Amino acid sequence: FETITVGDLAKRMGVKASEVIAQLMGLGVMATVNQALDVDTATLVAADFGYEVEQGMTEEIEIMQLQEQEEGGEEQPRPPVVTVMGHVDHGKTSILDAIRKTDVASGEAGGITQHIGAYHVQASSGGVTFVDTPGHAAFTEMRSRGAQVTDIVVLVVAADDGVMDQTREAIAHAKAAGVPIVVAVNKIDKDNADPERVKRELGEFGLIPEEWGGDTIYCETSAKRNIGIDELLENIQLQAEILELKADPSRKARGTVIEAQLHKGRGPVATVLVQEGTLRVGDYFVAGLYSGKVRSLTNDRGEQVREAGPAMPVEVQGLSGVPSAGDEFVVVKDEKMAKSVSASRQLKARETELASASKVSLDNLFEKI
Ligand code: GDP
Ligand code: MG
Repeated sequence: FETITVGDLAKRMGVKASEVIAQLMGLGVMATVNQALDVDTATLVAADFGYEVEQGMTEEIEIMQLQEQEEGGEEQPRPPVVTVMGHVDHGKTSILDAIRKTDVASGEAGGITQHIGAYHVQASSGGVTFVDTPGHAAFTEMRSRGAQVTDIVVLVVAADDGVMDQTREAIAHAKAAGVPIVVAVNKIDKDNADPERVKRELGEFGLIPEEWGGDTIYCETSAKRNIGIDELLENIQLQAEILELKADPSRKARGTVIEAQLHKGRGPVATVLVQEGTLRVGDYFVAGLYSGKVRSLTNDRGEQVREAGPAMPVEVQGLSGVPSAGDEFVVVKDEKMAKSVSASRQLKARETELASASKVSLDNLFEKI
């Protein structure tokens, strides 16, 4: 088998050998500059630097950069990306609906909203993008695939019910992801609402309200009566300002697939959250195992757009197949690059599949014996 030394790999990626060694340590591999890495290890570590490792027919290792270094433009403030989490029936869907209705930009379009898994709201306090693929599963699934799309978690807790199982789960997920929590104490219109109890219960998880000397933002809301929704949006902006979220819109786009499916008439479609750069019609890209050229971009209001900048969700048409939620979406320089990266990833995926299939059949064999 072909191997490559740490030093050679670093040189071909244009990074310091010490950076590669540090990254390898993160993967649990202790290495020196002269150490030879097998293709699989080299592939793993190269991915962290935005490179693909391909083993050609000649067995020679090729290093391909997904996106070349660009003259960086200015980093600019970008809108926050928010996921709403909480126990079932505490009002997640109702809050998302109430927020959507506050969108000042949707008025004239007649309010025909498309469900694409994420939407952007232009509130009077500023823009916010909400990922509304159903709750925890999407969040954990994407995180397990290494994708981090959320800047802020809005934790919805019903004031008449308090902290429940999925409340605790949501707190654990947000903490593991290092994502700050803004609490929406919902259903305050109910007779038996007890917001102070919710604060006490959440305080035990370290979510201490500001008025008690902590740094967790609490909002009291009623999604049903439309109370406190604007305040919630303002507080999301406050939390976002603390995070100083920035992105460079002048770069080639990079983002994450939020959801994807095979559409009867339109073929494979994927909702992509752009996280860096600007995505444009005509761009060549790689999305998980697949590649393509952007044929059209549709926003969450069903409008065709020419481009989408940082923190904007758009539905992309022009994919060669259906990627998975959490897959990375990267614009590359040309069709050749898009196709070769996709081909090498498919080959690798098939090899892994075959390897696990043959292991299973061997296991079965031993079971019978
Ligand atoms: P989810 O499971 O967290 O998405 O919760 P839903 O948004 O589906 O809400 C569950 C139930 O609570 C529905 O019957 C809603 O009408 C109701 N609900 C949601 N928000 C409020 C609220 O602020 N006040 C009251 N009284 N009911 C609410
Ligand atoms: Mg719901």
